Amino acid sequence: MNPSSESTDLLPGLKAALDAPGEDLEVLRTFLVGMRPQSLLEFWYELEPSERERVVAALPAESGAVLLSNLSTEEQPEILQALPPHQVAGVLQELSPDDLADTLQALDEFDPEQFQGVRELLDPETLAVAEALSGYDEEEAGGLMTPEFIAVRATMTAEQVLAFLRRVGPDAETIYYLYVTDGDGRLSGVLSLRQLIISAPHRQVREIMNPDVVRIRTDTDQEEVARIMADYDFSVLPVVDDDGQMVGIVTVDDVLDVVTEEATEDIRRLGAAPIDIDYVRASPWLLFRKRASWLILLVVSMTLTFNVINHYEDIIAEVVILAAFIPLLIGTGGNVGAQVATLVVRALATRELELRDYVRVFWKELRTGLLLGAAFGAFMTLYVLFFRAEPRIAVALGITMVLIALCANLVGASLPFLFRKLGIDPALTSSPGITTVMDVVGLLIYFRVVIWVLGPMLPGG
Ligand code: ATP
Ligand code: MG
Repeated sequence: MNPSSESTDLLPGLKAALDAPGEDLEVLRTFLVGMRPQSLLEFWYELEPSERERVVAALPAESGAVLLSNLSTEEQPEILQALPPHQVAGVLQELSPDDLADTLQALDEFDPEQFQGVRELLDPETLAVAEALSGYDEEEAGGLMTPEFIAVRATMTAEQVLAFLRRVGPDAETIYYLYVTDGDGRLSGVLSLRQLIISAPHRQVREIMNPDVVRIRTDTDQEEVARIMADYDFSVLPVVDDDGQMVGIVTVDDVLDVVTEEATEDIRRLGAAPIDIDYVRASPWLLFRKRASWLILLVVSMTLTFNVINHYEDIIAEVVILAAFIPLLIGTGGNVGAQVATLVVRALATRELELRDYVRVFWKELRTGLLLGAAFGAFMTLYVLFFRAEPRIAVALGITMVLIALCANLVGASLPFLFRKLGIDPALTSSPGITTVMDVVGLLIYFRVVIWVLGPMLPGG
């Protein structure tokens, strides 16, 4: 059975358990026992907030921890607040140290006083490990890593390592990679479980390990971590501190979250909707505030189009049909610009392009723009000739189309580079933004070309 069909079946059962007479937690508990906590996520937001709280309250601590680690740090405090402190502590105790560090930080921001109590209920050792992790920047490798890795010595034999693994294995985040450290905790090699198991029992780790270890530092940016992991195809990367001492590992599951987060952020920015919270949890009022600021900026910029048209009012009064082509011309300019900006922003984000590639991109998009312009210009000329049989207007529109397509293509390709250069996220060269710029520029091009080609037909010409 696939997960979604399973959870569709589960929702009615869960609802019934939640509606048990007297809100009996035992009924709910019995229902939840046979269930994978991850399945709850599929319909998590179809439950009322109070129902979610009761579900977490009824879950065994271990499942509660799995569920919690999959919720956003905005939601975690709200859910936990509804539980008695000892139960919160029980759930937190089950989290892996990296998740615990994030959750504690969120709790602290949410209600420092209430959670001071919870903190005191935690096992001091677990707490110390998590608090050491909280010192790292959330957006860097230090904030993603867990200290639960397995370190072995180069002088141990394969047999000894296996015996060691049986002992420490249950608590490690992953046992697939073993890291070789020296007396000072410095990383000197890595070996996979496969390498270990297939080697002769008496061989020393130093003979089978890979001494050339790909590593990241605690201050490596999370996007960089994702890239290194993708480039080398490792599912785990060791993290070292400034002294080269190994302090933790970053696993691919945490990096997947990072990649999703970063992509969401970029897509929202590209759409000029840079909201920074879960969409499903955002209220209309909040969405209004977050979205309106950008929309107002765009509306105000759009008023420039009024100024341009106003300025050339006489021309339009004389040759009224010219107004009919405005939406088509500036719409096309916006589309061309938004299209190329999307391609360039994405290539910059994935590091396929760097600042130094600008000239190459400009030259490529100059040619692409000319091809697009030529195609649209020819179409435009024929179209106007067919419907209006006025060669001069047809030519003016053809030329305008060439210039607008070319210009839009170059603006759309250049703005992301300019933003990167200025230290602004290129994703903020959003499609709506490019469209606005191209509306104004397109109108200016249009009227200049019209005056040039139709000069004699116009007032004063
Ligand atoms: P293979 O696929 O080569 O048989 P494997 O199945 O034992 O190896 P993989 O997970 O595929 O293990 O890893 C490939 C190799 O990469 C292993 O030899 C492992 O020691 C090595 N390795 C793992 N992590 C790192 C790292 N951070 N830096 C360098 N090498 C690493
Ligand atoms: Mg392999």
